Amino acid sequence: MHISRRSFIKATAASGIAAAFGGLGLSLVPSVSQAKLLPLRWAKQTTSVCCFCAVGCGLLVHTDKTSHRAVNVEGNPDHPVNEGSLCSKGASIYQVAENAERPATPMYRAPYSDAWQPVSWDWALTEIARRIKKDRDASFRFQNDMGLTVNRCDGIASVGSAALDNEECWVFQSILRALGLVWIEHQARICHSSTVPALAESFGRGAMTNHWNDIQHSDCVLVMGSNAAENHPISFKWVLRAMEKGAKLISIDPRFTRTSAKADLYVQIRAGTDIAVLGGLINYIIENDLIQRDYVVSHTNAPFLVSDSFSFKDGLFSGYKAGSKDSHYQGRYNKSLWDFAKDENGLPLKDETLAHPRCVYQLLKKHYSRYDIDTVVSVSGADKQGLLEFYRQYAATGKPDKAGTIMYAMGWTQHTVGTQYIRTMAMVQLLLGNIGVAGGGVNALRGESNVQGSTDHALLWQSLPGYLAVPDATHTSYKKHLEIKTAPHLAAAKDPKSAAWWQYYPKYMASFLKSMYPQAELADAYNWLPKADQGKTYTWLELFDAMHDGEFKGFFAWGQNPACSGAHAGKNREAMAKLDWMVNVNIFDNETGSFWRGPGMQPEKIKTEVFFLPCCVSIEKEGSITNSGRWMQWRYAGPDPRGAARSDGHIMVELMEKVRAMYAEEGGTFTAPIEALSLDMWRDQKGYNPHNVARLINGTFLRDVTIKGTTYKKGQQVPSFALLQDDGSTCSGNWLYCASYTDEGNMGERQSRQQSPEQEKLGLFPNWTWCWPLNRRILYNRASCDLTGKPYNPQMPVISWTGEKWTGDVPDGGWKPGEKYSFIMKPHGHGRIYGPGLEDGPFPEHYEPMETPLKSHPLSRQRSNPACLSFNDEYKAVADPKFPYVATTFRVTEHWQTGLMTRHMPWLLEAQPQMFVELSEELARKLGVGNGDKVVVESARGSIWAVGMVTERVKPLRILGKTVHQISMPWCFGWFMPHDGSGGDSSNLLTAAVGDANTGIPETKVFMANVRKA
Ligand code: SF4
Repeated sequence: MHISRRSFIKATAASGIAAAFGGLGLSLVPSVSQAKLLPLRWAKQTTSVCCFCAVGCGLLVHTDKTSHRAVNVEGNPDHPVNEGSLCSKGASIYQVAENAERPATPMYRAPYSDAWQPVSWDWALTEIARRIKKDRDASFRFQNDMGLTVNRCDGIASVGSAALDNEECWVFQSILRALGLVWIEHQARICHSSTVPALAESFGRGAMTNHWNDIQHSDCVLVMGSNAAENHPISFKWVLRAMEKGAKLISIDPRFTRTSAKADLYVQIRAGTDIAVLGGLINYIIENDLIQRDYVVSHTNAPFLVSDSFSFKDGLFSGYKAGSKDSHYQGRYNKSLWDFAKDENGLPLKDETLAHPRCVYQLLKKHYSRYDIDTVVSVSGADKQGLLEFYRQYAATGKPDKAGTIMYAMGWTQHTVGTQYIRTMAMVQLLLGNIGVAGGGVNALRGESNVQGSTDHALLWQSLPGYLAVPDATHTSYKKHLEIKTAPHLAAAKDPKSAAWWQYYPKYMASFLKSMYPQAELADAYNWLPKADQGKTYTWLELFDAMHDGEFKGFFAWGQNPACSGAHAGKNREAMAKLDWMVNVNIFDNETGSFWRGPGMQPEKIKTEVFFLPCCVSIEKEGSITNSGRWMQWRYAGPDPRGAARSDGHIMVELMEKVRAMYAEEGGTFTAPIEALSLDMWRDQKGYNPHNVARLINGTFLRDVTIKGTTYKKGQQVPSFALLQDDGSTCSGNWLYCASYTDEGNMGERQSRQQSPEQEKLGLFPNWTWCWPLNRRILYNRASCDLTGKPYNPQMPVISWTGEKWTGDVPDGGWKPGEKYSFIMKPHGHGRIYGPGLEDGPFPEHYEPMETPLKSHPLSRQRSNPACLSFNDEYKAVADPKFPYVATTFRVTEHWQTGLMTRHMPWLLEAQPQMFVELSEELARKLGVGNGDKVVVESARGSIWAVGMVTERVKPLRILGKTVHQISMPWCFGWFMPHDGSGGDSSNLLTAAVGDANTGIPETKVFMANVRKA
């Protein structure tokens, strides 16, 4: 059905009147539930969590007891994060569920057809299962070109999804891995993948260090690489609360945003120059001796001595080797040259005076001495006085009784140096003693409701749940895999003060293997895991490049819209036409499911069969999601699934049961992992059961086990990951979530605001849902104390040592003060100012984006990241007069990601109806473009139309003596909806397929473009 945008808005808005009860806005006063004012005689009330961003706001859902349809959704006033308020998206959730645009049945698009046809669930799932089996069997490889066992299916790929519940993510990764897939990617790759190695390398864990409520305790909130006021609106409640208490807000951004409008200080910079700006901050801190010295010496690796084989010269670190013509990476480093200088026991040498010329601190000082204020200004275009004020204000948080925090998002992650952007700030926070403390941390603002959980549960090619490693083919046995993964940690554990927690890897790996294959021997279960080729990566950009080369027969786009969400989206759309079949699971039809009828496509020439499977919206199903602050929050089902929609979990289980039945009946290739999969444990007599899966994720004793005198009976839930075993006697689908579903019940369901006076002072809310690991709300909290256990800031202690035990938050290890180092996940127990584990250097270096207005690098001869991901046959615009303007992309409050859901929500579409591009007044004058004129924006990849928005929010900058104009566009539009084409298309048709050296995250936040009047 094709209806115009206006009639769509009118029709659906009329059916959404009940949702007008929804709370809206950023009031700092907790609201009162409207439900208390309404008789609930006619409605069932359930609690849920917002399905949009990872602030994770709590909802109350009211469902009519007769029709079983949602009649009201509003903010939960008891919820500690949102306290009843919701942003415009959360307040409109009702319109996702009660929406006539939701397909009523599964749909099938036959090869070369120009139309969908409705089909039954049974037919669709049977046909999909048939194709999975055929192409798995045909493309299965037992050995790679080196003759090493890989046991994998090369002919099918999958992307999706951060919109799935935790339990569904775990089930999905199990199915994909049992089938043998290694091409497994999802949203996290393209939004926050660079966060994980950056934070893990710096601190040990790849997640937001603190949590939303904690932001209120900051003395200085830096918002850089994000726009919290618009994109994580309810998080901003906690920024405002900090400001009420006297905190300063600093906004550094290429564009003046609504966050900037509330800030005490705003500094505009050129997109892609944040490392230069933050490198200048490091230089300022060191030059003015503003580090928190006791913290730096006690808790960071600043005193460690670095091997003589490490060096840095003219933009390159030691050990660089350029990639071959066919390599996807520009080059690679030999990282062994960057190791620490070690003693006879293999432990790092240290100089706690920080004076040794080879100590980390002195090397750091030398590296960033090049980032003097004038150089930084000339590279970034920032105002010098503004920059100095930023440095002064932020560096002031280095005092023990002060805390500064950073809130960042895609503005940092999506770069060819994205990991190093975040690393630079992690180093700043370590120098200032801002990690582990209240009001501090490095806070990754996750943009999808469950992108944290979907990453924890490993819908990414390189990791297994709980950040265990996908083995590569050179790990030829289970024993060898364990030896390789534990070696550095066991070596570090020779220092009795190093907890070196990853030495327990075998317990977590064994328990994971048993959760997938409970009856199997560990060696067999390991053998069944698909293996990657050594040195090869299988990231998003490479996946679509391989698809474009025709390497896949089948493809799952499960809860994702890569036709709009991925960089160089036009290439993705072309690539889908090379497939034999595709499965698209979503709430609404979209640009991916219907790619074959999109702009420029000729359906009669496209062979791809497409199966569209309609799934439930979040409020129609039960399960948990994990917010940015690592809170695992349980959601309950409110309305029934609309039409024939099914939960993703139901679809997965039924599909895999059909696949298994076909193998049982017909035989096939490498059937053992399919037969042995724990599939029966994921369901009850009614089908998929999220509680069963959540219990399995937590883990169970598989036989009676006695540990330190206590006997745990077979079938008991494992109460803590400290009790997981490496001998196959326990299972745990994800060790990080062990303690989330114990014999005492489902911890994610808890909704008590009860807390001790110390906890209340911090707003830890330990009895509200559950937080990984072990319900610890602030990570690395042992670093908030000195080595005697005394809090650096006694007014705001995260934990305190009473002389017998720790009080406050759950401590990051229960040892006595000084007994163990504070960063327990790092081999040597210290926060890493020097990070030798990353692919592109132990110290972040400013490199120009792959597309840049500059011919050469202002600091060295190495213009762009020498280790980044880049396809040599794809053109990049470098100082190309055809594409003279620096372009960046952003999100608006009303739309979420590609807009797939929000463009179907009438209130939101009304507020933000179509594609626009922000131009400075100066650039608009130069181009003869007036406010509201239609313009064409074009890059080396393609072009789109947009409405020109002439604004003071962007200004031309002076870069190395020349004027540089910047433009900016949202990326939330697509051709499919509104159906009349009035919305325009995705700005990702313009962005480049180049990626970060460590994760391959695409550089969607900066590219070169041209603008002309249409
Ligand atoms: S989109 Fe984010 S900030 Fe808005 S209501 Fe949902 S969770 Fe809260």
